[in-house]
Amino acid sequence: MFPVVLPTYARADLAFERGEGAYLYATDGRRYLDFGSGVAVTALGHCHPRLVTALQEQAARLWHCSNLYRVPGQERVAARLVENTFADTAFFCNSGAEAMECAIKMVRKYHYEAGRPERFRVICATGAFHGRTLATIAAGGQEKHLKGFSPAMDGFDHVPYGNLNALRDAIGPATAAILVEPVQGEGGIVTGDPDYLRRLRATADEFGLLLVFDEVQTGMGRTGRLFAHQHAGVAPDVMAVAKGLGGGFPVGACLATETAAAGMTAGTHGSTFGGNPLAMAAAETVLDVMLAPEFLPRVEAIAAVLRARLDEVAARFPDKIEAVRGLGLMLGIKPRRPNTELIAALQANGLLTIGAGDNVVRFLPPLIIDESHVDEAVGILSRTLADLS
Ligand SMILES: *Cc1c(COP(=O)(O)O)cnc(C)c1O
Repeated sequence: MFPVVLPTYARADLAFERGEGAYLYATDGRRYLDFGSGVAVTALGHCHPRLVTALQEQAARLWHCSNLYRVPGQERVAARLVENTFADTAFFCNSGAEAMECAIKMVRKYHYEAGRPERFRVICATGAFHGRTLATIAAGGQEKHLKGFSPAMDGFDHVPYGNLNALRDAIGPATAAILVEPVQGEGGIVTGDPDYLRRLRATADEFGLLLVFDEVQTGMGRTGRLFAHQHAGVAPDVMAVAKGLGGGFPVGACLATETAAAGMTAGTHGSTFGGNPLAMAAAETVLDVMLAPEFLPRVEAIAAVLRARLDEVAARFPDKIEAVRGLGLMLGIKPRRPNTELIAALQANGLLTIGAGDNVVRFLPPLIIDESHVDEAVGILSRTLADLS
């Protein structure tokens, strides 16, 4: 019989029934240390008490009313995001791909309104990931995501990530924008050099292009700043956010400057569910927790501890680990054997991690971890590597 759930995922044979902080409890009673966070989503861990309360209270008041009416939660969340970023405005949606769709539409509309409708192409990076819709698989440009879904949507050119000369060479009369992830996530934890990001800003300004950052994975404190580009001291014109924004509740946002967003007037874009009161209660609470003055400095501190400990492990097992890399709590280790083997062995020993491109094993723990969680994860990793022949 054909699977009742469309089999588009290669799922592990493991199901969870409860989560608490950095731990997940499987249906067979086993406890797992969750260093994947559902792919960088549960940034405050599982069932954070403030999120549970906020959602319970909102659930008893109002879930949904549509964007035909004002949604006060959107106004509050947008104001917090605007206060703490380059942006002047935010559009709310339900996922990372949708946040990217809004960004791509905004880029086209910006040039259209300026009388340059011929400028619609976006220069993207090889190894990128921007989602699984038709537009975002074209933006990602990965053969494995595009195969069988031709024709690919037109309007995306790809150059090697980190190579400014190649990018400048790709700029033509139809170029509208530059789009990159400050740290490539699915591509294998490839960190954009701060100087590269600054030069992208300068290049965008030189040619009248918009600069778009996809911070769906890197954003919401993941790298130790609210957004990863803040490490480099550059600002984009448009930014896609999702994953950690709702702490596990599906919510995305496209942030932009007033100039970039000016063409997105009533009727140009929309979403039935986007930014509903439940989603906004989650996002507002996540922001309340993350913007408390001690939160992000703690993330940077614990990230430095985890990084140092992973570097130590790599130095002890040079025959098994080729590299450790990343930024903040977005770390990757590159084993010499297939990453799938190590991920499965770690899982068998009670530690959840996530694969990525370039044979990387991603460590994306919740941002609330302390040294005891680092000790436990590094202990499991060391034992697993020692046992791995
Ligand atoms: C996960 C991800 C997306 C897509 O988000 P979805 O919520 O799965 O649509 C887009 N860009 C980046 C960088 C991501 O990591």
